[in-house]
Amino acid sequence: MRIPHYTASADFTRFVRALPKTETHLHLEGSTPLELLRELEPDRFRTPPPFWQPGFRYDSFDQFMGLYDEYCMDFYRSAQRYHDAAKIVLATCAEQGCRYVETSIHLPGLAAANDSGPEVLAAIREAAPAGLEVRIFAGMCHNDYAAHGPLIEAALGWKDLAGIDLHGPEYWRMETWSIDLWRRARDAGKMTKAHAGEFMPAPFVRWILDNLGVRRIEHGVRSVEDPELVRLLARERITLDICPISNVKLAVQGIGSMAEHPIRALFDAGVPVTLNSDDTFFFGNRLEEEYFALHQELRFTRSELARIALNGIEIALLDPDRKQALKAEWKAFAEAESLDLSVAEGSNRLVG
Ligand SMILES: [Zn+2]
Repeated sequence: MRIPHYTASADFTRFVRALPKTETHLHLEGSTPLELLRELEPDRFRTPPPFWQPGFRYDSFDQFMGLYDEYCMDFYRSAQRYHDAAKIVLATCAEQGCRYVETSIHLPGLAAANDSGPEVLAAIREAAPAGLEVRIFAGMCHNDYAAHGPLIEAALGWKDLAGIDLHGPEYWRMETWSIDLWRRARDAGKMTKAHAGEFMPAPFVRWILDNLGVRRIEHGVRSVEDPELVRLLARERITLDICPISNVKLAVQGIGSMAEHPIRALFDAGVPVTLNSDDTFFFGNRLEEEYFALHQELRFTRSELARIALNGIEIALLDPDRKQALKAEWKAFAEAESLDLSVAEGSNRLVG
C-alpha cells in the first residue's frame, strides 16, 4: 500500500478533486504504474519501492537517474507498453479533476522500442479517457544529439508531437545544437520547454531563456535567488511548471522542507506557476497531494489554489473554443465555491 504524503479533510479533498485543473509536468516513464511492473516481476514489486516512503529523500540526482534506468526504462519496448502505462497514468489524472495533461517521453528511449515514434505517440493518445485533452512532448538530455540526431530531427515532423523539452541532469554541459534545434522546433509549430533552475542556479534559467527562447520552464524554482529574474518572469508571464513534492524529495537547494518551498514567494511576486507531480513512480505522490501540501504548509487559500489551476488552463495548447469552454467551467466552479475572484482571477498580485 502507498502511504500518502499528505491527506486532507473530506471537504478539502472534494474541493481539490472538483477544481478543473491541469497537469503540465509529467514524465510518462517516471510515472510507470507499479501494477504493470508487478505483472512482469511479481517478486521484485510485491511491496512498493523504498523511495515511496514519505520521509525518503534522494542522496543526489545521479542516484535518482540510476534508479530511473534500473526500474523503468526497460519497460518501454513497444507502443503497446507506452499505451498500457499511459492508460493508467491518464485515468489517474482524470479522476483527480484534470481536464488537460502534458506528458513527456524520453525521446532517445524510442531507439530501444520495436515500434516507430508516430506509432508510440498514437498509442499514447489513444490511451486518453474521454474528456481529457492530452499533449505529448519529447524530452531529451543536454548531450543527446550526437547519438540520436536523426531521431530528434525526425521528431520535429511528427504530427502528434506537441513539443520538445530539455531534461536529464541539468548540470551537464550545454551543447550549442539545442539553440538551433529549439528555434527550428518552434518554426515547425512545436511548443518548446526546458528544465532549468532545479539543480542549477538562477543564471542558468537566464541562459535558457536567452538562448533557447522558451516561455515555459520546468521547475525553475531557483529563479527565486535572483529578484530581477523573478520580476522578469512575472512581467513576461513566463510560466514555471512546479512539482513541490519532487523538489523536497530530491533535496533541491534551499528546500529543506515543504514549508521552505519558494512557490509561495514566486506566486506572491506574480510569477505564473502551475502545480504538477513530475514522476509519480519515483515520488509515490498524487497531484492532489501537491495541492494539500500548499494549503497545509504554505498557507495557500482555496482561491489561490484555483488561481494556480487557472494558470494551467491559460497555457494549455487548446483551440480557442475549447479553451473558452474550460475557462467557463473553471469560472462556474469558482462561483459555486464562493471563491474570492479578485484573487482567483487576479494575476497573482503582479508586480512592477
Ligand atoms: Zn521533470
